[in-house]
Amino acid sequence: MCVSVLGASPWLGLAVPGQPQQPCAPVQYDDLVCFRDIRPGAPHHYLVVPVEHMGNCKTLKAEHVPVVQRMVEVGKAVLQRNNFNDLNDVRMGFHWPPFCSISHLHLHVLAPASQLGFLSRLVYRINSYWFITADQLIERLQTENAAS
Ligand SMILES: [Zn+2]
Repeated sequence: MCVSVLGASPWLGLAVPGQPQQPCAPVQYDDLVCFRDIRPGAPHHYLVVPVEHMGNCKTLKAEHVPVVQRMVEVGKAVLQRNNFNDLNDVRMGFHWPPFCSISHLHLHVLAPASQLGFLSRLVYRINSYWFITADQLIERLQTENAAS
């Protein structure tokens, strides 16, 4: 959950003392970082974060659509590298401000979506005021672009 990441070093939860270090991707990306959520809400729970600071999902513009799409691609790749291949049973999305106080954009990747616990189903709920799926965000950004 975001809250747990907040207490740690802001976006590289990696550096938390006492936490087992579990790199979730044996690959390096130039523009994106991926790490395991330190308080997983599902058997697989990763965060994909752009290295470059780009605000939150509320401040994104249409020009960021490729970035969001790439975050999703990396999320899928990370799942597959961790031997999770049922990409239909995945929940990916963003917390909508102000419900997440981390200002650094981060994509939550949870799988299998069918195994989310009660609290996780609430925190990462589709069509809620506080969580927006990657698909919805992309659609929203594209629509805004068309309108301007
Ligand atoms: Zn979050």
